[in-house]
Amino acid sequence: MATMTGVVFLGDRQLAQREFLVPEPGYGQVLVRMKASSLCGSDLRAIYRTSNWGTGPEAYQGVIGGHEPCGIIERVGAGARRFKEGDRVVIYHIAGCGLCHDCRGGWMISCSRPERAAYGWQRDGGHADFVLAEERTLVALPDELTYLDGAMIACGIGTAYAACLRAAVSGRDSVLITGLGPVGLGMALLCRAMGAQVAGVEAVPERIAQARALGITDVASPIDAHAHDMLRSLTKGQGFEVAIDCSGNADARHMCLELAREWGRVVFVGEGGTVSFAPSPLLIHKQLSLYGSWVCSVAQMEDLAELLVRWNVHPEKLVTHRFTLAQAKEAYELFDSGKTGKVAITWPA
Ligand SMILES: [Zn+2]
Ligand SMILES: [Zn+2]
Repeated sequence: MATMTGVVFLGDRQLAQREFLVPEPGYGQVLVRMKASSLCGSDLRAIYRTSNWGTGPEAYQGVIGGHEPCGIIERVGAGARRFKEGDRVVIYHIAGCGLCHDCRGGWMISCSRPERAAYGWQRDGGHADFVLAEERTLVALPDELTYLDGAMIACGIGTAYAACLRAAVSGRDSVLITGLGPVGLGMALLCRAMGAQVAGVEAVPERIAQARALGITDVASPIDAHAHDMLRSLTKGQGFEVAIDCSGNADARHMCLELAREWGRVVFVGEGGTVSFAPSPLLIHKQLSLYGSWVCSVAQMEDLAELLVRWNVHPEKLVTHRFTLAQAKEAYELFDSGKTGKVAITWPA
């Protein structure tokens, strides 16, 4: 039988290349030949840097890693109804039970049934030559988008899009984004496409340089004592209609509340950490709306694929480094430095 290479995590920054049988798609499943499989900050935080692999949706179960897969359908199993061999597809990174209230709304991320399994966490993911996927988790990749664009849709920029929807970002808004890693920078590209003005906060010089190269010129470093004043002056002292934290950093979250304008909308997207703030002056008296936003729904991912074509936005631009599957170790070591944009494993087109 045919075999393939896949990458598994061993914990404490170790990983291994292993040989696996190429899986055979069962009922309602497809086999996807991988073309792009990007690395995610959540993999670093919850799987790569630790061997304490958590519980529930964050439990890593020793499977092939990678939850941002994009490729082309190699074979379809019985019962496939929408997709066929040769279709280019993004894989929504969680397969829910399909029947609970969350799954019916497209929020497989929030499925709490025992059948719920995230690619790369509880079932085999995209760091392999092939992925066995449920047809219901597929999103069609438009011809105008690249496989790397698709891998960005599979998680990071999908997450950014959902947060923009929560804040109802529009051309009337000036938006502050704290943390310009891949999600924050993707957010900036989307907010700009929606017509908003965008300013950012980022501490890492390499990430500031990448933001500027993508045309996000109003970027402050939190190390700079004048960062607050500079940002406030961009809004004539009024503050931002929308402030979105993508860093998970307590000071950055606080800054979002401080620099949001009265009646503004604040969204927390960056994971982990904590925050403490005085609710009266920062939230209540300012009449703010504060949202949490976790990933996106599969329907939002479909909408996003359509909109990226309409806006001519290619999130592939967020990728600063590409590696082959055989170089997965180097890819993770580099991404772990925190100095890159998005890092991806790619296969020949
Ligand atoms: Zn991800
Ligand atoms: Zn479910």
